[in-house]
Amino acid sequence: MKNRLSLSFFRSIGFKIALIIILVGIIPFMVCVPISLRAYESVSIHTDGTNLMAQAISYNNQIVTSGYATGEDNKVLDNELKSVAESYNGRILIINSALKIVRDSFMADIGKTVIWENIIYSMQGESLYYYDKATNYLIVSVPLINSDGDIVGVLVMNKSMDYLTQNEDSFISYMLIGAVIIFSLTIIIAVVAQIYFSRPLRKMSNSLDSIIREYDTLLPEETSFIELESISSKFNEVIGKLHSIDESRQEFVSNVSHELKTPLTSMKVLADSLNGSEDVPIEMYKEFMLDIGDEIDRETKIINDLLSLVRMDKSGAELNVSAVNINELIDHILKRLKPIAEKADVQVVYESFRPVVAEVDEVKFTLVVTNLVENAIKYNNQGGWVHISLNSDHQFFYIKVEDNGLGIPEDSVEHIFERFYRADKSHSREIGGTGLGLAITKSSIAMHNGEIKVRSTLGEGSTFDVRVPLNYIKKEVH
Ligand code: ADP
Repeated sequence: MKNRLSLSFFRSIGFKIALIIILVGIIPFMVCVPISLRAYESVSIHTDGTNLMAQAISYNNQIVTSGYATGEDNKVLDNELKSVAESYNGRILIINSALKIVRDSFMADIGKTVIWENIIYSMQGESLYYYDKATNYLIVSVPLINSDGDIVGVLVMNKSMDYLTQNEDSFISYMLIGAVIIFSLTIIIAVVAQIYFSRPLRKMSNSLDSIIREYDTLLPEETSFIELESISSKFNEVIGKLHSIDESRQEFVSNVSHELKTPLTSMKVLADSLNGSEDVPIEMYKEFMLDIGDEIDRETKIINDLLSLVRMDKSGAELNVSAVNINELIDHILKRLKPIAEKADVQVVYESFRPVVAEVDEVKFTLVVTNLVENAIKYNNQGGWVHISLNSDHQFFYIKVEDNGLGIPEDSVEHIFERFYRADKSHSREIGGTGLGLAITKSSIAMHNGEIKVRSTLGEGSTFDVRVPLNYIKKEVH
């Protein structure tokens, strides 16, 4: 447990931010120190090299005209070169054209031959400097040129560069102090940032814990970061949706129980009244039994409608799509509904503008047309009419179901697609309505990616317009 806790700390956003701050603080430092040291070294070598070369060149005339390079004694020059060499903690050599050392401030190697590429180059007229890292010496070689322009030898001057290492050492110790300061500062900043960034997240996580415990609360508005503000407001939206789903589920369950209980209660009353009375005439038995049969039919219809609705509501419910001849489908439905229409004395007229073949689920789409036409017949007056028309364009097909029946009150129109909603409760119950028909219709049309619209005037009639794509395109579920 402890191990998991410490591991989760390393995976926390606060730790990662702290790590980034530390790296951002330290890495440039680590990169810059060696680069600055290198730069300091090369600039110092170059400056010293060119200065030393200029100084060596300045001795040219003195050395050449006095014959010092060819062996003439010159105490003044001896002393001057010696003291210059000492001041540099180095050495001065004069080499003649035969590559032999003729003067040496150390007086050690006179007469020896020197073969070194820089001296050969200087014999050809080049002034050069070279830094020998192993000995820490800067070596300058310049040609000695007489008044005729001939090279008579080479002047070599060495300079100890020990001061470079000393300077670098003190530079490094300053840098180390700087590193300690920067490191401590970045650690402090990192810790503060870690606390600053992880606190609102921890707060949010605690609030989520309490929401999990009691689902009634909302996430407090978190305003420290715009991202968290947007997450908490979206989360609250989700909670709001969950609440309304929960409410509508509860309402649905209570409606279902109520609707299922009503026929049962009627049957119980009918049965009880038969059981409670003696010498009931057979006609009354028959009449009550017919009533009980009607209630059973009603109960069956409610259960069937509920099953259809549940099947459509099931998330990811599949449509069994095939190319269906819609004209034939409507013809077939109207044939089935003809007896109801005749009984209600309602005239049904069907007008098809063109043959329509569309990709639909035949069973589910039959429910759509049946419910609409059945309603138009049911909520009609004696001698009324129902007009059904079918049309299409290159993309959709359109079904219009129009009647001159009872119409729907204005304030009910927006509710008629809700489950168990009935605009006129007593009439609807009387004619066997369950209040589920239009909910089934709407779900089925939505599954086909279509739309349904209604226009109605109370006392004048209603018009239902359905629009469905000819080709079914399955919606991607993410
Ligand atoms: P029901 O089973 O009660 O018919 P529906 O869901 O099919 O349930 O319809 C809901 C309500 O909408 C009905 O109770 C009725 O009041 C109203 N309604 C539906 N179609 C029509 C129509 N063509 N004319 C008048 N009212 C209608």
